[in-house]
Amino acid sequence: MSKPKIAYYLAGGCAGCDIALVDLADYLVDVLNAVEVVFFAPTLVDVKYKDFETLPDGSVDVGFFSGNIRNKEHEHMAKLMRQKCKILIAFGICACLGGIKGLVNLYDNQELLEKAYKDTFSTDNPDGILPSPKFVIDGKYELELPELTEVKTLDQVVEVDYYIGGCPPHYNHVKKALTALLKGELPPKGSWITMGHAVCEVCVRNPVGRGELKNPVGEVKRVIEGQLPEDKCLLEAGYLCLGPITQGDCGASCIKNNMPCRGCGGPIPGVKDFGLRAISAIASILEKEELIDKIAAPIYLFYRYSLAGSMLRKRIKKETKKKEV
Ligand code: SF4
Ligand code: SF4
Ligand code: SF4
Repeated sequence: MSKPKIAYYLAGGCAGCDIALVDLADYLVDVLNAVEVVFFAPTLVDVKYKDFETLPDGSVDVGFFSGNIRNKEHEHMAKLMRQKCKILIAFGICACLGGIKGLVNLYDNQELLEKAYKDTFSTDNPDGILPSPKFVIDGKYELELPELTEVKTLDQVVEVDYYIGGCPPHYNHVKKALTALLKGELPPKGSWITMGHAVCEVCVRNPVGRGELKNPVGEVKRVIEGQLPEDKCLLEAGYLCLGPITQGDCGASCIKNNMPCRGCGGPIPGVKDFGLRAISAIASILEKEELIDKIAAPIYLFYRYSLAGSMLRKRIKKETKKKEV
């Protein structure tokens, strides 16, 4: 029997998701023996887009798309991956919901370029040159850069079959997901591949897990304030942990390292807008309404990984701009 053909593409990401694959260590050897990698760009394998474009449509069994869509080249590659792959997986929270870099959507691209190339303290750019999609050197060499778009999730460009959350996906979960994939044991199309438990459910500090009631939150603190407790629920101690509404496929990694969950695993099943659910979950557990004003930079907390995928993204941008004026 021929081996399943796999393709992998990194768009607007940091390559941490690629490293999550390498973290599979010895299991990676088994995976590589069980599949045929036909495309892996731009990391790991020296391939050209042209090689991928010439493959027959639908000839690749599974495509992994990591990173968000940030420019026209990423858009082109998303469409190409869709065309060539029978199953397309949004791999990592950038591809699923935009990721941390989706927060740039609070600004226009021109504002961001001005800030990065002119206005920062360390910038040395006396002629005020900004990157442009076309640039001619010495009057004869034409260079091209892909045109920037706003940050988009993969499913805002093409249809996605499955989602795997995490920034990056935890290697243990990647192993389980790959095993399910190779055995053909997949959930219905359009689902997140997840164990289906919230971070709280796998967190040893959960007082409910110890048969105790979860107490209301009487204060709100930033992680730079005070001393984070090492043995009790961080949320109860006032450090806003998004464990109640985040998929716990990481095994509560951050809490094990005494940091609150920030939501990179993506929403627990049934949640349509991560940030909205996070706001309602946290608001419902606060002891007093006034504590809401103590939440510093709420958009960066509740929408840290999911602004680009939020149904309220345009409204949030508009409201943020109004506040800055
Ligand atoms: S999900 Fe995280 S690790 Fe993966 S590409 Fe995005 S920023 Fe990097
Ligand atoms: S809120 Fe955070 S610290 Fe508390 S039980 Fe849930 S995951 Fe653990
Ligand atoms: S605890 Fe939360 S933020 Fe940390 S790795 Fe897990 S899902 Fe991501």
